[in-house]
Amino acid sequence: MIVGVPKEIKKQEARVGLTPAAVREYVERGHSVLVETKAGTGMGADDTVYADAGATIVGSAFEVFAQADMIVKVKEPQPEEWVKLREGQILFTYLHLAPDPEQTRGLLESGVTSIAYETVTEGVGLPLLAPMSEVAGRLSIEAAALASRHFNGGSGLLLGGVPGVAPARVLVLGGGVVGTHAARMAVGLGADVSILDRSLPRLRQLDELFCGRARTLFSTVDAIEAELRHADVVIGSVLTPGASAPRLVTKDMLGSMKPRSVVVDVAIDQGGCFETSRATSHAAPTYEVDGIIHYCVANMPGSVPRTSSHALNNATLPYGLALADGGLRAIRENRGLLAGLSTHRGRLTSEPVARALGLDF
Ligand code: NAD
Repeated sequence: MIVGVPKEIKKQEARVGLTPAAVREYVERGHSVLVETKAGTGMGADDTVYADAGATIVGSAFEVFAQADMIVKVKEPQPEEWVKLREGQILFTYLHLAPDPEQTRGLLESGVTSIAYETVTEGVGLPLLAPMSEVAGRLSIEAAALASRHFNGGSGLLLGGVPGVAPARVLVLGGGVVGTHAARMAVGLGADVSILDRSLPRLRQLDELFCGRARTLFSTVDAIEAELRHADVVIGSVLTPGASAPRLVTKDMLGSMKPRSVVVDVAIDQGGCFETSRATSHAAPTYEVDGIIHYCVANMPGSVPRTSSHALNNATLPYGLALADGGLRAIRENRGLLAGLSTHRGRLTSEPVARALGLDF
């Protein structure tokens, strides 16, 4: 199979779909890999490194899309990429279609067979979402710490406090992968941490993991309202797989929060779990609503492309190789990949996306 790796064109996205080490794995299996020139610059891998790994470097995205049987990317295709996709081609990347009707229409019109990283399953887990969730969870506390600084408009609190001065209170909404890694960073800094989740088994695991260094609470409207009143930082990290994020914090609820507190809505890529969230970029990551600082960057791991590209490839490689080896047969035979199948020959094949967008399935 010819596998194509275009340079990411989403604003401020510096990750790359295949690392040089991954290219080598494809080539050793007998596949050809086309890499757009400078695709790996953000992760510190120039064209010669890719060529040494066995890739063919091409000068434009047009050549990659025109020749490849499978496109491996990081972020959802942008409008100028939808039109380059075609029926009979496989697209393997993050898609986040549920809150994005335009992109869904673009993919359906192209006829491409698209597989969304974020809905590929392994048992009950989401193995291709997990590595970026680990990165985003850890970054969320760095983002909150920065936004809390006085000269950045924040409350002026040091998250960990110092001896004799209380630490900040960090509330984590959703104790999955993002939430756990956010809580680990916050606990590591010495913050006072609460984690809310609606899954009792998950709360039990978190209780064991943190051994009393973080509070675990069952997620109800009551619990959220009570915790918001004391929080200095709120991390939004809930997920309903494939669907839009549940809106757990309304605009009215912000009124009960301490002025200049910070909310980091990591779930913004699924529409966000704060009513007042709107996606921001690394260039202008924060804005204010009713005195509360909002950080809502939808591609947080894009700011650490070296760590993120390697972490992503560690997870995607076995699935990508299976697709390159088996094509559509691999999707039929692998339940995990089948769960990621989102569009195929102009048909929507993801039930949660269809439900979220009110489309036929
Ligand atoms: P996950 O499935 O591991 O965790 C989600 C958790 O939310 C689960 O434990 C679930 O029980 C909990 N949950 C669901 N509904 C809830 C509710 N009403 N109240 C409390 N908890 C609830 O998912 P994840 O990997 O941690 O991802 C979380 C979100 O972060 C996703 O939307 C994901 O796409 C997003 N994400 C964003 C970025 C970014 O750059 N912004 C990067 C990675 C992941």
